[in-house]
Amino acid sequence: MNYLARQKKLADRMRLFGLDGMLVTHLPNVRYLCGFTGSSGYLAIRAGASSLKAVFCSDGRYVVQAKEEVEGAKIVISRKPALLEACQWVTRSGIRVLGFEAEHLSYEIYRHLVRTFRGHTRLKPATGLIEQLRTTKDPEEIEQMRAAALLGASLFPTALATIAAGVPEAVVAGEMELQARRAGAEKMSFGTIVAAGVRSALPHGTASSHAIPDSGFVILDYGVILAGYCSDMTRTVHLGRAPAARRRMYKAVLEAQLASVAAVGPGVETGAVDKAGRQVLKKAGFEAYFTHSTGHGVGMEVHEPPRLARGQKQKLEPGMVVTVEPGIYIPGQGGVRIEDMVLVTETGKEILTPTSRDLIELEPESLRPS
Ligand code: ZN
Ligand code: ZN
Repeated sequence: MNYLARQKKLADRMRLFGLDGMLVTHLPNVRYLCGFTGSSGYLAIRAGASSLKAVFCSDGRYVVQAKEEVEGAKIVISRKPALLEACQWVTRSGIRVLGFEAEHLSYEIYRHLVRTFRGHTRLKPATGLIEQLRTTKDPEEIEQMRAAALLGASLFPTALATIAAGVPEAVVAGEMELQARRAGAEKMSFGTIVAAGVRSALPHGTASSHAIPDSGFVILDYGVILAGYCSDMTRTVHLGRAPAARRRMYKAVLEAQLASVAAVGPGVETGAVDKAGRQVLKKAGFEAYFTHSTGHGVGMEVHEPPRLARGQKQKLEPGMVVTVEPGIYIPGQGGVRIEDMVLVTETGKEILTPTSRDLIELEPESLRPS
């Protein structure tokens, strides 16, 4: 990864926002800018008119790791608290306006910064500055995301082989997670969602100890982290033969998803992608049951900008990876969601998750050959 190039891009944006310094406290952003994958460290950056300097501060637990991983920044490991070390560097560097990550900073730390810098460095919230940089992935990142999406997709057959009436949702999630680890994933991108029967009407029904009933939808929403990059996908299957009303639900979600995916392309407003699918659900009479937005960016974190939601004006750009995930949730009955990861290209899009979206009806376990 070319960390220096990323820092330079950030420096350009900092100048645009009137910042000559930036304190990076959010670990995924620290990792993005200098490669550190540990769980405690701060990156401070000074962007003069033409110069760029960066220092990475951490503590004694990370001596070896920082040396191995950090690029494009001077490493300082000291006995002092790492944040204090970073602040002192900011002061010594003569930084006048320091950007900080308002959305990732506790009030306590903010107060500490105010006390430390009183009189010589002005603090200015730089919300989302680095996240916006991260929205467009470079070719190396796209390769990582492709690999993460494929690994995630490879867990679907494991889910299908495990789902059966009477099996707890958590067991299905557990089998998928073990398979992910075996295939090289660092961990899951988020708590695996396995929501069966009436629980499929919960858009975020994290796998529970509930046993899967002998008929109904099962929503599987899951992802892996591979080499620092997240995958995220959803498929919904039906246990037993789906009655006509449920087939209509599934068909409406599938058509909405296809319409939204078709709308993805460079220069398209994210709100237009949302609208394309929402209109399909409206025509089918299900609009009221689509209770969340259509999708989100995905990368080093599973939820990143841009948001694909009603009225959003941000335009898609080549290199963005977004999810498209409409759903229908009918309380007391069940739900359907279909989600894919879509890469925005120069000319259109590429779907990164290869799994079929056709409705799968699973035989109850007793009817399956053993
Ligand atoms: Zn998802
Ligand atoms: Zn998602």
